[in-house]
Amino acid sequence: MTLEQRLKYLKRSLANITQLRECPGCGGKTLSVIDKKYVVTWLLNCKDCGLSHRHPKDDKAWLERFYQKEYSIDTHMMTNLPSDAEIIQLKADCFPKLRSYDSYINALSTKPNQDIKVLDYGCSWGYNVFKLQSSGFDATGFELSKPRAAFGKEKLGVEIFTNLNSIPKDLDMMLSSHVIEHLSDINAFIDLAKKHLKKDGLFVAYCPNGGNEYRLREPHIWHVNWGAVHPNYLDVHYARHIFRHNPYLLLTDDWQYDPEILANWDGKKQIQGSKLDGKELLIIAKPNTILA
Ligand SMILES: [Zn+2]
Repeated sequence: MTLEQRLKYLKRSLANITQLRECPGCGGKTLSVIDKKYVVTWLLNCKDCGLSHRHPKDDKAWLERFYQKEYSIDTHMMTNLPSDAEIIQLKADCFPKLRSYDSYINALSTKPNQDIKVLDYGCSWGYNVFKLQSSGFDATGFELSKPRAAFGKEKLGVEIFTNLNSIPKDLDMMLSSHVIEHLSDINAFIDLAKKHLKKDGLFVAYCPNGGNEYRLREPHIWHVNWGAVHPNYLDVHYARHIFRHNPYLLLTDDWQYDPEILANWDGKKQIQGSKLDGKELLIIAKPNTILA
């Protein structure tokens, strides 16, 4: 964050300091303070659902404006849009620095790639959509920021929806990478996934691991990872709670996962990996399938 952004955040937090302390996930009021920053922000953990979240919270209208106009992480390609020449090279090389989801998707599905309909939710200008399409998947994206969506459509020729109602309703997978920790309403996000996924469709979300096991391993990075743009800090406890009626596979690792672990999940049981101190949390669940 720049100094100006930090001051704005502090001002906003101070203005909301008297806000009711209430879990944004379940409305629970049994909350414990597990971390704090800048005197006027706290990380609270909900005893009822397990969601760790920042207090004070941002309102939805403010967040929408923020993601339309102000959001920038200077060093990241997401907001530093490349030149036309750079894009030609990136396309030719198929965005080599980006994580490839191919082996994970293939581990989770036996269908041929062209029959797997996947939406990248929060896709920015669609570089992952392009990468997925290049691997043959039936991929589209959703992005709140209209300028970034328009840029991706123009430069990469990919389909990026900016209206939630336009998202197809027969998705095999709704993928999101480092999106869920930014949202003001996680329940609405999961409801959206339910509405747009097939009966056995997969909700797949990557996010920073807010678990205590990771905190013990890298306390400084754990502390840095929540705050202004990350109001939610998810861990396996919360993931187990939100998908308590559904089959799931919950893993934490350092950005890379063993595809064999994904392939070994039968899609019917609730499985939590044995490694809990990874930097990242990977939630895979079938929100439209109720456990037998
Ligand atoms: Zn809660």
